[in-house]
Amino acid sequence: MIVMKFGGSSVASAKAIERVASIVGARRELHPVVVVSAMGKTTNKLLEIAKRASLGDRDGAMTLLYELRDFHLAESGMERTVEEHFQELADMARGLAALGELTPRSIDAVSSLGERLSSLIVTKLFERLGIPATHVDARKVIVTDNRHTHAAPIYEETYKRLAATIPPLAEKTVVVMGGFIGATEDGVTSTLGRGGSDFTASIVGAGIGATEIQIWTDVDGMLTCDPTVLPGGHRVRRISFAEAAELAYFGAKVLHPATVLPAIEQNIPVRILNSMRPEVEGTWITAQDVPSKNVIKSIACKKRVTVLNVHSTRMFMAHGFLRRIFEIFDREGTSVDMISTSEVSVSLTMDDDSHLDAIIEALSEFAEVTVDRDQAIVCLVGQNIKDTPGIGARIFRALEKINVRMVSQGASSLNLGFVVRGEDLRPAVEALHTEFFSTLDPEVFDA
Ligand code: ADP
Ligand code: ASP
Ligand code: MG
Repeated sequence: MIVMKFGGSSVASAKAIERVASIVGARRELHPVVVVSAMGKTTNKLLEIAKRASLGDRDGAMTLLYELRDFHLAESGMERTVEEHFQELADMARGLAALGELTPRSIDAVSSLGERLSSLIVTKLFERLGIPATHVDARKVIVTDNRHTHAAPIYEETYKRLAATIPPLAEKTVVVMGGFIGATEDGVTSTLGRGGSDFTASIVGAGIGATEIQIWTDVDGMLTCDPTVLPGGHRVRRISFAEAAELAYFGAKVLHPATVLPAIEQNIPVRILNSMRPEVEGTWITAQDVPSKNVIKSIACKKRVTVLNVHSTRMFMAHGFLRRIFEIFDREGTSVDMISTSEVSVSLTMDDDSHLDAIIEALSEFAEVTVDRDQAIVCLVGQNIKDTPGIGARIFRALEKINVRMVSQGASSLNLGFVVRGEDLRPAVEALHTEFFSTLDPEVFDA
């Protein structure tokens, strides 16, 4: 058995799903289990509907809802299924408008609809195209805790259910299920966090003992730089789990950061592939180290990062200063990506600033706080970083004209990251890409 996960753009239309069917059809003998995302940008739209409804903008919510319904109808022709799901959504939107509040649990009830629908649609279109397919409701097999909007799988129960349910069905037909969604032990719908379908694919792969987990998307594989920042990067042929995880964590959206965890445990190779160009070999992500003549495998970026500078002559070095800071972040459910400390101050980066005001207010009780918005993290990743001298010099030489802050090397020693101003991101990545990828090891990169 193999797991084949298709992202939003790969199932964005009937036409795209046809392409998926031919990719899956050609691999029938491998007993594919197909995991799909919501069609196109459906999840964003669902979240917008929930937001508008809860803010009392019922007309706005309904306009978007009808648009999304018509889109699903036009692409699938599945009138009853689509109507039923959007009826449910309309009921939820009415409830949200009446209550005027949006809880994580109700966000999940709404945002799960995209994958619930896309998985049914893909199953039906497969059948129409002559591929025998069976739909499995992911909520029956992916069991999670109740941290809605970013739930974690309860592995033991999930693996038990996957192992019992999927292999017998995959024996004769192609199993299709939605990514991203699950349910708590009480059966309440939950989601694994944005981009979570990749994570579903690897949970399923580990649960059924798949021989390979394929992540089909809209790029040729892991590239040497983020194509939304700098086009023209090269495909990385092979990369280790550890390097891929680091890249994902620091913004390489092509892979959800948690994806590699279940795969590592069972040593199942993960491959990133392009559904528009299935003939390209993609990127293999494997447990083994990947030696390379290039020091760096890829450059990841995080845009729109906020940096908080916490300054306290009184408190710094005093017992418990950092604990107090982190307690505040913890209480506000905000995670910190990078941290750097100096004599009397601490700088922290966060990519979710929705609780910024509360955080600043709490910090201001014992420190001065300044905020730098629209910053970006750049992170170079490669296993050779740890034992190659002179990398810092090469980075700073390449970035001569750019203000570089908060330089830090992750504990894994696989990465070297720093913060630049948002407007400096592209020039920084361009300079680093030239510095580190002007010559390519053909064993590792598609030159
Ligand atoms: P899907 O819907 O298939 O899950 P995503 O949009 O989540 O696709 O991820 C694919 C996107 O990731 C690419 O279109 C690309 O813009 C972005 N990306 C960011 N960094 C990288 C990188 N280093 N290599 C490849 N793609 C990257
Ligand atoms: N549809 C979900 C999202 O947009 C999950 C995914 O695509 O991986 O975040
Ligand atoms: Mg994705």
